[in-house]
Amino acid sequence: MSRLHFFFFPLMAQGHMIPTLDMATLVASRGVKATIITTPLNESVFSDSIERNKHLGIEIDIRLITFQAVENDLPEGCERLDLVPSPELFKNFFKATAMMQEPFENLVKECHPDCIVSDMLFPWSTDSAAKFNIPRIVFHGTGFFALCVAESIKRNKPFKNVSSDSETFAVPNLPHQIRLTTTQLSPFDLEEEEAIIFQIFHEVREAYLKSYGVIFNSFYELEPDYFEHYTKVQDNKSWAIGPLSLCNRDIEDKTERGKKSSIDKHECLKWLDSKKSSSIVYICFGSGVKFTGSQIQELAMGIEDSGQEFIWVIRERKFKQENEDSCLPEGFEKRTKEKGIIIRGWAPQVLILDHEGVGAFMTHCGWNSTLEGISAGVPLVTWPLFAEQFLNEKLVTDVLKIGVGVGSVKWELVASEGVKREEISKAIKRVMVSEEAEGFKNRAKEYKEMAKQAIKEGGSSYNGLTNLLQDVSMYGTKID
Ligand code: UDP
Repeated sequence: MSRLHFFFFPLMAQGHMIPTLDMATLVASRGVKATIITTPLNESVFSDSIERNKHLGIEIDIRLITFQAVENDLPEGCERLDLVPSPELFKNFFKATAMMQEPFENLVKECHPDCIVSDMLFPWSTDSAAKFNIPRIVFHGTGFFALCVAESIKRNKPFKNVSSDSETFAVPNLPHQIRLTTTQLSPFDLEEEEAIIFQIFHEVREAYLKSYGVIFNSFYELEPDYFEHYTKVQDNKSWAIGPLSLCNRDIEDKTERGKKSSIDKHECLKWLDSKKSSSIVYICFGSGVKFTGSQIQELAMGIEDSGQEFIWVIRERKFKQENEDSCLPEGFEKRTKEKGIIIRGWAPQVLILDHEGVGAFMTHCGWNSTLEGISAGVPLVTWPLFAEQFLNEKLVTDVLKIGVGVGSVKWELVASEGVKREEISKAIKRVMVSEEAEGFKNRAKEYKEMAKQAIKEGGSSYNGLTNLLQDVSMYGTKID
């Protein structure tokens, strides 16, 4: 039989491209041909790692498709989700991604891959795959728990039973009692048909249910009940092959993920080396979250009040609101000079999390960050904002019991709705220094060990990948 060939086509957003690169690396390390499809601006996200892999005998190809930004009234070079200048333009971005279908199909015609692993946000790729009689496999970039909860909400609409936004409702037919409020749901969950996101996600869901299967960046031992539940409830196949980030073993791979790091890795490690074990709170909200100035101020005061040492990643705000003054409270940096580092820009997140000096991770609960924290054995302080982040928070706080929330209750694209410094400081102290801290730490360490075992030869995720390769090789006849 000829060598299998996988196409990987991620959405152009850091949280989607980073795990896809890891996925391509894993697949290629099993002798499969892997080709990543992206746009010219995003080539650099992959190229250094592809080059490093080449020296290890792991071959990954990259093919580029033009992205029609200007034609869709986006600024020139706006080829990545975090570069979209305002939320109103997200629909233009998705229109431009849909225009990639034709050039993408030309590539399929030219290369004859055996399957397409494409982003959930490219629903049209299900049709592309069908045209060539090859399987489309969806990469959601989230876990079993979140998909099970979202699907139950979609089918049962439990939010219709509450009389106010702040009243909690139980999500039915799940292995655990999960309670949410209406404010934590997306416009898609709430079926607000006029919302931009509604139409896109409607198509996404239809296409995903029709697809051959779903790859999960997760591992069986993390969410066994939801792995089983998903398999029972959904018709398509699923393979858990994560945590994907664990394929990055050396310092270079852990540092250069997605973007060039804004801090020198040696400087960062030297600072961490000088600290006591489990004494640092690492604070980072992924690639896309924006905060208003007043919320940043509140966060700064919460960090200071907690008395804990920290590394805080602050990103430039794109959707700046009127009347916002400077972000940090007067004198904050001077007062905390000995206690913390502020990274303005991009942090070497996995490198930091894997250092034994880190004792907790304050995160927006993007799935990659959540899983990277879990893989590092670090308790989490959760501050979800949008996408499926509120669901990931529930997994962390209510099911795994390895973290504490700051009390974020509103689904919003910019963090502006008053999480107060007292709540922030309280949540940090609970995971770092309270009587419960040891329990959080021990449970987090257990999941770290399970994650390590899962990716080893014979482990659940290792076998998940073997099954995926077998399933694809047995799918239909290869077209040449
Ligand atoms: N990341 C990073 N440095 C940063 C911010 C983010 O390396 O300063 C990486 C992080 O390790 C993760 C990804 O970017 O792999 C963010 O994905 P996630 O799903 O957590 O959040 P999103 O950005 O999609 O909201």
